[in-house]
Amino acid sequence: MTATHAPGLPVIEDGQLISTNPATGAEAGRVPAADEKSVIAAVDRAREAAVWWQSLGWEGRKTRLLRWRTLLVERIEELAELTRLETGKPLNDGIIEITAAVEHLDWAARHAKRVLGPRRMRTRLLLAEHVGHLEYQPFGVIGVIGPWNYPIVTPIGPISGALAAGNAIVFKPSEYTPVVGQWLVDSFAEIVPEHPVLQAVHGLGDVGGALCRAGVGKVAFTGSTATGKKVMAACAENLIPVVIEAGGKDALIVDADADVRAAAEAAVWGAMTNAGQTCIGIERAYVVEPVYDRFVAAVVEKAGKLRTGEEIGPITMPKQLEIIRDHIEDALAKGGRAVLGGADAVSPPYVSPTVLVDVPANSSEIRDETFGPTLTITKVRDAEEAIQKTNDSPYGLGGAVFGKKDAIRIARRMRTGMVAVNGTLTFVGMGNLPFGGVGESGFGRIHGEDGLREFARPKAITVRRAKSLLPAMTFERTPAQVKQIIKALRLLYGRKP
Ligand code: NAD
Repeated sequence: MTATHAPGLPVIEDGQLISTNPATGAEAGRVPAADEKSVIAAVDRAREAAVWWQSLGWEGRKTRLLRWRTLLVERIEELAELTRLETGKPLNDGIIEITAAVEHLDWAARHAKRVLGPRRMRTRLLLAEHVGHLEYQPFGVIGVIGPWNYPIVTPIGPISGALAAGNAIVFKPSEYTPVVGQWLVDSFAEIVPEHPVLQAVHGLGDVGGALCRAGVGKVAFTGSTATGKKVMAACAENLIPVVIEAGGKDALIVDADADVRAAAEAAVWGAMTNAGQTCIGIERAYVVEPVYDRFVAAVVEKAGKLRTGEEIGPITMPKQLEIIRDHIEDALAKGGRAVLGGADAVSPPYVSPTVLVDVPANSSEIRDETFGPTLTITKVRDAEEAIQKTNDSPYGLGGAVFGKKDAIRIARRMRTGMVAVNGTLTFVGMGNLPFGGVGESGFGRIHGEDGLREFARPKAITVRRAKSLLPAMTFERTPAQVKQIIKALRLLYGRKP
């Protein structure tokens, strides 16, 4: 258990997937690696477990999910420490991540019956002799494929929605964080020991691909846009539906009437938390001219106080270090200026906070996901220009606005799935709000009512309760009845609005 490998790189040895601490290279833990056969076997077991899980009903599942929630709260420090070992994430960031996961688990458990349960629909006049019923039925087995950057809250989003809806899960954690993934599965099994309702399969990308092809009812993927496209292609072979939670290049807009110091504080946290390895991390700031200088100064002051190796943990994936360095160098080569950090900020496995200004729109720091503790700040004429520049991106995940009078109007016009006003990233912490993106950031939603419906199929049932007065759906209708139907239609819908 003390072997030292290249820092951060997961390896498979003797059928075991070994993850390492990105800061030290020390082994963080090991789990059995899966292959195609074992993935199919896990999905087969899950299919049977799903039948039992569904038989518990809404209340039975709710009680168990709430017990699991409580267990996560009881062991929050243990889980945060494990996350630190595998990702390098500072302990307090891990605690905040688990806090959000607990909120989503609680919300999904408490609201599944209301959102998905059977309901009678209002009768329609034209088919008044029939009554409609609507309910949302589980798919059976959901495949969840997760990333390493938030190895708890990102999978718990789809897992909590899918479990509350009545599905069993086969979960493929990132190869960088398998031990955290296995911990989640083992802790759930303490609460639900009867059947393997939540299982993990471990390995590299091929194991994720095998899961897409193993007969699951739906796949919930969280990871990079490039991998999301591969997951869609694999699922397309069998017309398996997917949710894609992919990358982003989120922007913060600071308007003229913003509280500039509050905006700077939120920008630094939104950009630098988890060393910038956040899908909804703020990577670009567009700031209107009258408050630009004050904002830049406040950001530099606040980001300059962050200690690398303390608040700023290591970059989890070694190959990301090159991407971050390339982006910074490209920005500087194209005429950008570093007002904090710069190319020298990259000192493996760490990157110190870097703030760049005057970065041209065609540089990779503006266009591509950097996934490091960097922030570009661009001066704009007004909010209109800020909106146009924000939306000039193939991504559209989250975003933020600081301002007063027009803040919500600006938020509505950002081409993203979520926006925080006078805060950053806050929408991820509310159990009743949907989470997901547009464009290259993906589609489908986790969290909230939409996140529950994502893991169930709507089922419509009509039940006849009387003989038809105006029988339309039969060959036995008479010409006189058809005339009556036309008459009724004209009466009901024939008037111009
Ligand atoms: P990644 O795409 O490299 O890997 C994600 C998962 O997909 C891993 O479990 C990996 O093993 C698996 N995988 C790899 N190849 C596969 C294949 N061909 N078929 C099936 N599965 C495969 O992403 P990552 O580096 O783990 O995570 C970082 C990325 O995730 C960033 O782009 C970040 O923005 C994004 N992310 C998005 C959200 C969101 O909710 N939108 C949340 C967190 C992270």
